[in-house]
Amino acid sequence: MTPAVEISGLHKQYGSRVALRGIDVRVDPGTVVGFVGPNGAGKTTAMRILLDVLRPTSGQVRVLGEDPRAGGARLRARIGYLPGELRLDGRHDVASLLDHFVEISHARHVPRHDARAAWRDLADRIGLDPTRRVRGLSKGNKQKVGLVQAFVHRPELLILDEPTSGLDPLVQAEFLAMVREVRDEGRTVFLSSHVLSEVEQAADSVVVLREGRVVLTSGVDAVRAQLGQRVHLTLSGRVEAAPFLPLDGVRGATAAPAGANTRLTLDLDGTPDAALRLATTHTVLAIDAERPDLEAAVMSLYAKESR
Ligand code: ATP
Repeated sequence: MTPAVEISGLHKQYGSRVALRGIDVRVDPGTVVGFVGPNGAGKTTAMRILLDVLRPTSGQVRVLGEDPRAGGARLRARIGYLPGELRLDGRHDVASLLDHFVEISHARHVPRHDARAAWRDLADRIGLDPTRRVRGLSKGNKQKVGLVQAFVHRPELLILDEPTSGLDPLVQAEFLAMVREVRDEGRTVFLSSHVLSEVEQAADSVVVLREGRVVLTSGVDAVRAQLGQRVHLTLSGRVEAAPFLPLDGVRGATAAPAGANTRLTLDLDGTPDAALRLATTHTVLAIDAERPDLEAAVMSLYAKESR
């Protein structure tokens, strides 16, 4: 299976500043991959190289099986790109700008009237008013224009740099639904984000970049598993935490009085089996588990790295 994106040994230097220090990334077709990392990690640089907006210092990239330098307009038409810093011509209204995009940029292989209907559908979905002038649009509404032009020609690969920046939560949710639809149709999405919870909802796997290096490539579920899980049990009467501590799968245990009962908090880094067996020697009144989130997992990874 040809990867949708394949990056190997990619280096990029801007003068004496090194932005990418030899990264390897593979994005399989029909998947959503989240590119995550703090400011200046190199996400935008890598994405621009995929679009041949920038040239690498060394290393290889393949996009939909092709070298972006050689693919030209034909390859570009198979990609939907949302740049991190979107520049739009403010003189037009949204409708004529989107018509213009459809006309000149990508949609050559899509009949024009279909593409027009498609942008109107997308604009409607994310609440973009096509009659507005571009110059007066808010940051979020400009971002919507960028999203529509990236999705409208139903590209095989979407490369989206900070796609939800400036969007309100309702529009973010709609965007995530659009991403899932693309994936369900076997198309591919490579998106960068600071908002890890959004990557968690949208992506199958995550590539964490830091200071120009890939520090983690993993399935989203596996990243979360690294963090373990926190479970709260309400047990009848007074129960000590100490007997739980040596059990398999238990990393930490604390007990606090809750009225006449005990609230026992267990931090698990393995299976909860042993802890639950011991808990059920008491009367278990309630149980709830916190869903570990990707943000905490990635932050703890950064912390480990810096130590
Ligand atoms: P952010 O999340 O803040 O957008 P990023 O992960 O996208 O960050 P890049 O924009 O790729 O990171 O930047 C990577 C590094 O390269 C940073 O140190 C940045 O300062 C530097 N850099 C980016 N563009 C240029 C440029 N045109 N000239 C010089 N240095 C640059």
